Amino acid sequence: MKLIAWNMSDGMVEIHKAGCNHRKSTRNAKGRSRQDQVEFGRTDWASQYDFAHDYWDNGILDEYEMEYGEGSFDVFQEMDFMPCTKGLPRHEYAAEVAAETPLAAYAGKEITETIREYAAWLTEQTGYEVDLRTVALAGTLRDKFQKSRRVA
Ligand SMILES: [Zn+2]
Repeated sequence: MKLIAWNMSDGMVEIHKAGCNHRKSTRNAKGRSRQDQVEFGRTDWASQYDFAHDYWDNGILDEYEMEYGEGSFDVFQEMDFMPCTKGLPRHEYAAEVAAETPLAAYAGKEITETIREYAAWLTEQTGYEVDLRTVALAGTLRDKFQKSRRVA
C-alpha cells in the first residue's frame, strides 16, 4: 500500500493511504497541525511494520539498540495509522513466527522496480496474470531453495 505521512505538531506521525479522500479534511483534527511531509506515496509498503521500521531506520534505531539490545526499540511508537490504512497488515514477525518461517521477512520486503518489470514481462509474454509478491519471493529465494535441496 502506498502511504503519505506527516510529522505532526504533537509529535505523532500521521499516516494515510495515498489518495484517501479524508486526508485534507482532517487537517486540524485533534488540535494538531501538519509539519513536515515525510512520506510521499511512492513506495508500495508491504506492512505497517515496514513503514515504521524504515521511518526510524536513520540512525535512531541503531543507536538505541546498541545501547538497549537488539529488538528493544519499538518502531510503532509515535505512529498514528489512520483508518484508511486498515487494509495494510501490521506484520510484526514475532520471534516464534520467525522461527517457524525463517524467511518470513522476505514476505514483507519492498517490491523493487526490477521485480515489477519482471512481473509485467512475465504476464506479457505468457498471458498468465502473475502476482508481484510471488514473483518477488520466487526470484529472490530460488538460490536458497536450491541450496536447501543440495544439503538434504
Ligand atoms: Zn486517510
